[in-house]
Amino acid sequence: MSKTWHPETIAIRGGRQISDFSEHTQALFMSSSFTYPTAEDASRLFVGEQAGYTYSRTSNPTIAAFEERMAQLEGAERGLATASGMAAIHSTLISLLQNGDHLLSSHSLFGSTSSVVNNMLPRYGIEVTTVNPVDLAAWEAAIQPNTKVLFLETPSNPLGEVADIKALAALAHQHGAVLIVDNCFCTPAVQQPIKLGADISLASATKGIDGHGRAIGGIVCGSNALIEQIWNHVKTAGEIISPFNAWLLSSGLETLFVRLERECANAMALAQWLEQHPKVEKVYYGGLESHPQHELAKQQQRMFGVVVAFEVKGGRKEAWHVVDAVELFSRTGNLGDVKSTITHPYTTTHCRVSEEGKAAAGITEGLLRLSIGLENVADLQADLEQALAGI
Ligand SMILES: *Cc1c(COP(=O)(O)O)cnc(C)c1O
Repeated sequence: MSKTWHPETIAIRGGRQISDFSEHTQALFMSSSFTYPTAEDASRLFVGEQAGYTYSRTSNPTIAAFEERMAQLEGAERGLATASGMAAIHSTLISLLQNGDHLLSSHSLFGSTSSVVNNMLPRYGIEVTTVNPVDLAAWEAAIQPNTKVLFLETPSNPLGEVADIKALAALAHQHGAVLIVDNCFCTPAVQQPIKLGADISLASATKGIDGHGRAIGGIVCGSNALIEQIWNHVKTAGEIISPFNAWLLSSGLETLFVRLERECANAMALAQWLEQHPKVEKVYYGGLESHPQHELAKQQQRMFGVVVAFEVKGGRKEAWHVVDAVELFSRTGNLGDVKSTITHPYTTTHCRVSEEGKAAAGITEGLLRLSIGLENVADLQADLEQALAGI
């Protein structure tokens, strides 16, 4: 990588691994193992004295290309790709925490992430406290002598609450803990948590990084030392990504910036339009001046993301009507796709979260989550208009 390259160039040309054939596009190495010229080479490869590949559960050139490109985009020393976003989250937390440690996290977490944090980790003897992500005083008050990790999503899913990454990084470091940010909703095209002080930026690459709804994958970026620790777990427990998925995700990155710029502009236009709609109670989008953390979002994000949440007047019946009546939006849980999607978080993505948990996170029965894609924004607006009109 040239030191002067801008992120848009890195997204296309960063981290390529080119073989002896001088292929122009990143090659797909579907090979479970790699051969060694001699017994001595094999022994040097296995103890790590020689760089190279041995077995694709450990590393693979196509995976390495994706990891290197992501690390450059996040401003990190090293990247590690995993089988899914959940594998990225689980492997990171389980590698950095052990029996007796305390994890301080947020109320507002993706449904499966909440299960890992609140149900699985306590079974391993890890203490967990969750707080309101935007309440800095609550984070500070919940720090314990054994707090090793602070972990959150910002903006949160689905309400887009924006937490102060710089302030949380300072708090974590003051207490000898690390700050992990789930950057799924933004991707590095919108926010670079490591540049704001976070130790690790991780994400489900299934979403905006792929961008075309094709592949499941995850990515963890951070310092050499932290990623080495997580990689030691991943390569042993087998949470590695498939080379095929890494190859798809690398190609997804090539259009990341143009996709996100247009999708965020579409999302902004729809959020503004929804906010003045008579059937809409409330709109949650960081780009709106009505958003409680609008100023902070402007400081730490380049744009405001693709997810717009809004509450229809009424409750579940009215929200389900909108889901059933849309003709262009896809009824599916994926987000960050070029195709716009709609979900009812209360009965889908957050259905396993307890009633109290949903109440604390502000997930009501009238709430809908949109992920805005690349369709013409007038068509998206017309579709929502006809769906809302039928309530
Ligand atoms: C989708 C998602 C995950 C989980 O990612 P998978 O790739 O589905 O395993 C984690 N966190 C957030 C914020 C997500 O949106």
